[in-house]
Amino acid sequence: CGIFAYINCNVSRERRHILEVLFNGLRRLEYRGYDSAGISIDSDGDDGPTKLRGLAVPGSTPLVFREEGKIEKLVASVYRDVNETDLGLDHAFKNHAGIAHTRWATHGPPSPRNGHPQSSGKGNEFLVVHNGIITNFMVLKETLLRHGFEFESDTDTEVIPKLAKFVYDSLTEDTRAGDGGGKEIQFSQVVMEVMRQIEGAYALIFKSPHYPNELVACKCGSPLLLGVKEVGEAENRGAFVETELRLAKDGDKPKEFYIASDASAVVEHTKKVMVIEDNEVLHIRNGAVRIYKFEAGKARTAKGGLPRPA
Ligand code: GLU
Repeated sequence: CGIFAYINCNVSRERRHILEVLFNGLRRLEYRGYDSAGISIDSDGDDGPTKLRGLAVPGSTPLVFREEGKIEKLVASVYRDVNETDLGLDHAFKNHAGIAHTRWATHGPPSPRNGHPQSSGKGNEFLVVHNGIITNFMVLKETLLRHGFEFESDTDTEVIPKLAKFVYDSLTEDTRAGDGGGKEIQFSQVVMEVMRQIEGAYALIFKSPHYPNELVACKCGSPLLLGVKEVGEAENRGAFVETELRLAKDGDKPKEFYIASDASAVVEHTKKVMVIEDNEVLHIRNGAVRIYKFEAGKARTAKGGLPRPA
């Protein structure tokens, strides 16, 4: 129903702050109605988990919290867990990517296991928050089941993170086999391949320990916005935002990004907001934003042994 993400780049933020931004984002989306809520944050220190490509379970697993019912129930359970473990609220992250969701169930009754973020499975290699409906999820689910994936929820959404893992593994495999020319596989590339397979109406945000401190979002038929705040800069200098964002390469400037399904969750932080269009993929990496637009009829740039409907 509502999706939200917050990523701080090159600016130190305490876990307390990160959690409050995520929870406030959810509170802003509350008016749309929801039956469950969830978030994912990092467990690790400053620059996130170590990239260990090719391992079944990456260097560190993101934390996932999901609750049925009110946002405040989620808030209470997160703080309880954070306090009970050694995850300090004042632990600072120079870079961190967090995602959040309020759910209005379409497939599967409200319950913690049907809440979002939905996961690729053990290790949370890919996590997804989804607003909308995937209409061809049954076909995808059958294919993924045949490839050995085990499903833990009744949602249509769960095929998305599992498909992302399948794509990631097959692209990695291709690269190792020399087929990909030894090129590094980008997070956005994985999401683009996922987008080719799914049908329906959706806005999605992806998080992965394979790509610490990065976020990828995409949409088709459901709303999605990006807000950017350059820390320390006067907020009313907002002209030519789109150009600047699309070409942003000044990665080391301290920045904060907000992605949301509703403007109300972004404009409290910044007036520099851009609307993401259908069939666009948004990639935030090292403080820079790249946007890819799907154009029909163009030659494919990526390969990957994708599961095709039987
Ligand atoms: N179709 C998804 C589900 O039922 C997402 C629903 C929503 O937009 O909240 O889990």
